[in-house]
This record gives sequence, structure tokens and C-alpha cells, in this order.
Amino acid sequence: MTSGAQPLVFDGHNDVLLQLSRTGGVAGAEVFQTGREGHIDIPRATAGGFGGGFFAVFAPSPGNKATRHAEMAKPSYDVPLPAPIPQPQALAEAMRQVAILNRLETLGALKICRTAAEIRACLDAGTIAAILHVEGAEAIDPDFHVLDVLYRAGLRSIGPVWSRPTIFGHGVPFRYPSSPDTGPGLTDHGLRLVERCNEMGILIDLSHLNEAGFWDVARASNAPLVATHSNAHAICPHSRNLSDNQLRAIADSDGMVGLNFAVAFLRDDGRMIDDVPLGQMLRHIDHLLGILGEDRVGLGSDFDGATVPKELDSAAGLPKLRRAMAEHQYGEALIEKLCHGNWLRVLEKTWGA
Ligand code: ZN
Repeated sequence: MTSGAQPLVFDGHNDVLLQLSRTGGVAGAEVFQTGREGHIDIPRATAGGFGGGFFAVFAPSPGNKATRHAEMAKPSYDVPLPAPIPQPQALAEAMRQVAILNRLETLGALKICRTAAEIRACLDAGTIAAILHVEGAEAIDPDFHVLDVLYRAGLRSIGPVWSRPTIFGHGVPFRYPSSPDTGPGLTDHGLRLVERCNEMGILIDLSHLNEAGFWDVARASNAPLVATHSNAHAICPHSRNLSDNQLRAIADSDGMVGLNFAVAFLRDDGRMIDDVPLGQMLRHIDHLLGILGEDRVGLGSDFDGATVPKELDSAAGLPKLRRAMAEHQYGEALIEKLCHGNWLRVLEKTWGA
């Protein structure tokens, strides 16, 4: 599971399906193989030793992401939660993005993985391993018919909310500085979703839940607690980041956290400015390791969904991060755990072997 001398990265979050949906849809998906504007494609994955990860299906809110990012470049900000998205609209977008993922598999660009063993085999073979993940469960109906159909299409991970209300919960706004405790947590539908996901062996992603929602899942779920792409609130006091109490609950459940590369969640000042040294990522990892231990921290890049440190640029820049880890005196075994080993461990526990 190496690329040259380096362990491959298996990563907790990317939004490449959203970007492909916006650009050429299913018919234009070939650009993933040949090269595209963005963070992840086959040439960049090969150059950087990107072995795969959680591929999010996500229905964007109307409005301009650039406006949100401009607001988040300010010294403090409070971006309100966007309006809910109607289920038919979210479902149509989910079908479009799952069709793109299927097309990528047909093209041989990746494999949709349903078990940790399948991911391991992909890493060994040099095939990109993709987990079908739904970020924000707007597409899911209260009777879980869509959940059942998506499960058969490969769905193995779901976030009950993005930073936007759903029938399942409320979501955390993009606010700095702010506690993650910003409002009410899961609804009754949300608690039923947790129960159903536990029964089906679907991972429940805590990123984008507010603190009340986090504790609702912690109480209701019998699975390890996982935040696929979130950082340490002690370093960057952003509403999207996790307090030390939340991290301790994740450790107690034997779950894990994937480090988000989004600059607004990395920087001490929470600003959406990409001039961030890689050492800042290591400060978060050190803090996460201090509470979670070596087996419960990984990466959750948010590639193709976030502004990442300029120095990293894209998946092709991952060797710089591995080098920074080695220079920071992380040993080979720890670097391998951070790059992919811990994700495999937690997925095996969550999904069953
Ligand atoms: Zn996200």
C-alpha cells in the first residue's frame, strides 16, 4: 500500500462528484481520468499517492459559494444556515452524482468499495477506492426507501446534515469564533436514522452536526463515533471544529477524526485565506493525537470542496504533507496509520469485517 516509499492516502472526504456534476455530468466524467481543474483526478492521484476515500454526494444550496468564502475571509463571521432543500431536488442531484460515480467505475477510474477488505485490495492494486457517502441526508425519505436503494448502490456512510437543516437535524453554521453548540440537535427522524444506520452497518458522519446533534448521536449510536472531516476547536475555535470533550467521546467510542484541510478550519484566526504553512496541519494532528491516540486520527481533506493550504495545492501535493509528518518526527508506522491504516481499522469495526 505504498506509492514509491510513501504510504497511500485514503481520505475521509472529497467533493469531486459535485464538481463533475457541475461541469460535464456523466457525459463529461472522462476528465477525471485525463485531468481537470481541481484537486483530484487520476494524474494528481498518481502523483500524490492518493489511494481513495469517501466520495460525497451533495446537493448544493442555491446562492454563490464565492460569496460565502468572501464572508469567511473576514476576521469574524456568522454565515446563517441556508434554507432546507426539498427532497425531490436533493434526490435528483444524488442520482446524478451516483450515476457519475458509476460511470467512473465503468471507466475503470475507481472501484466503489463496500468492505474494508475491498479497500485494502484496491490500495494494493493501485486502483482508487471509493466509499459512496451522502453529505446531508435531504435525499433520504422518512421511510428510508431511498436509504435502502442507495445502500444497494454501495452507500456505506451518511451525514444526517450538512450545515443546513434537514428532517433529521439542524446542522452547524459556519461561524467564527464560535462554540459548536449552536442550536437543537437531531429530530425524531434523525434518531430513527441513527438506529437504521446501525442496523444496516452504515457509518454515521458527525462532521457538520452541531454539538447537540453530536451528543444525540453519541447517546443513540452503538457504532464508533466518526467525524470524517473536522479539526480541533482548541486550535481553531470555529463552530465546525470539535471541542476536547467531543474528542474524548470519540476516543471512548474507539472512533476517529479525519483532519480537514480547509484553511478556515485550520487557521487559528478561522479566516478563509490559503497562506497556511503545513505545520499548522501538524499542530491539529498533534492535538488530535494527544486526546485520541495514534489509532484514531486520519485525513479528511475536503478536496474539491474547500480552499486548502496553497503549498499543498491538490492531491498531487500530498507527498509534501507526508514529508512534513516525517520531519515532525512521526515514525513510519504512525504515518501509515494517519495516511490510511486508521480508516481501515474504523471502517472494519463499523461495517463488520
Ligand atoms: Zn463537508
